[in-house]
This record gives sequence, C-alpha cells and structure tokens, in this order.
Amino acid sequence: MTISPTFNRTFKCPCCSNSFTTVNVRISYPKTAEISSDYCVTYKDEANSPYLYYVNVCDSCGYAYTKNSVPLTSLTKETIIKEISVKWKPRSYGNIRSIEEAIICYKLAIYCSTLKKEKYYLLAGLLLRVGWLYRKMNDLKEEERFLLQALEYYKKSYDIADYAGTDMSEIRILYLIGELSRRCNFYEQAVTYFSKIVSHPNAHFEKGVVDKAREQWRLTRENNKTLEKAI
Ligand SMILES: [Zn+2]
Repeated sequence: MTISPTFNRTFKCPCCSNSFTTVNVRISYPKTAEISSDYCVTYKDEANSPYLYYVNVCDSCGYAYTKNSVPLTSLTKETIIKEISVKWKPRSYGNIRSIEEAIICYKLAIYCSTLKKEKYYLLAGLLLRVGWLYRKMNDLKEEERFLLQALEYYKKSYDIADYAGTDMSEIRILYLIGELSRRCNFYEQAVTYFSKIVSHPNAHFEKGVVDKAREQWRLTRENNKTLEKAI
C-alpha cells in the first residue's frame, strides 16, 4: 500500500476556537534535492513541499499563523477580529494548495504578524519564504521585492537583537543579511556583514555558516567586479 505524502490535520483556531482541517505533509516524506545559499530547500517532490502548508488559516475567522507564531493575547485577538475577521468571507485554504494559494496564506500570516507586532526576525522569515515561493515560480521581480523586505526586517532585528534567546543565532542572522544583500546587489553591505561573521567571537561554534560566509564573500567580490566591468 502506498502511503499518501499528505494527511488532514485538525486544529482549534487560537482566535475564534473554530475547528478547521488543513493538509499537512508527513514529516518523513520530504526529501531534499538542494539547499540554496539563502537556505531555500528544493525538494525532490516540489508538489508536496512542506513550504506550501507552513501557514494555517482558519476558514471561519481568517486568522493565519504558523507553529512559530506568538500566542494571541486578548488585545491582539481584538485587533485580529477588528482588522481581519469582520471583513473575512469564510473560505478554506485547508485543501491541497498551489504555490499561488500558499502565497496568499503567507501574506495573510504576514498581515497577522504585523498586527500582533511580532518580532522582526519572525516577520522577516515569512517574507523570505514568500520570496522563495516566487523564485520557484520564476517570478524574479516579486522574489526580489520580498527578499528586499526580508532584508530590511532582518536588519531591524539585528539592530535591536530581538532574536536573542531564540533558535536564531547572531551569526545566522548576520549571514542572512549578508546573503540577502548580495542577492539584492548591495555588494558593499554584503561584504560588511560577511566580514562581521568571520571575525565573530563565536565563529568556531558555527563553522558551517562561517565557511559559507567566506564562500559568499568571495562570490560577492566576483559579482562586484562583473558589475564594475559592465559599467
Ligand atoms: Zn478562527
């Protein structure tokens, strides 16, 4: 018997307490084909990518969240109801999703995250994932638009260290700022952030990221030379 890559999961909405069912990918199913320099995974079966189902959307009130979202308080719940639920026409994103549908779910989650004033690194992570989904659709313009926004929020997060005490390390956030700067053609900025990694006091704890930063630093210098020649 072949086991389906996906299954239906039921959640109780943290905002309106409605029960809704949504598709999830089995944890053992996805097999990685490739990981890009900004950590976007290409799966062997992209049609059943876990990225498509990362966001849960309540069909009754429109609240969109992920496993990393901050729990609602009575105040943020009130804001979600006022800004989303009262305007929400009940509809479900609980079935098999296309990339386009997944992007709508992420955009709803980004709006909810903004309304809840979540930490910048969480918002940046959602924006980055939307950029990746546009990349998978070969929509380079929208990809860059979202990478730029992710970059802006990772920088804000780094400036006030709002990632402290989470799974996100300082070296990793520096790397993402460097790499997103490189991808958005801000070469000087990329070099500044990659160099911070190489000289970081914790560099020996995260050798993998540091080696990657060295490699991307070298690539940035090449990118810059190519750009100078073109001018
Ligand atoms: Zn709800």
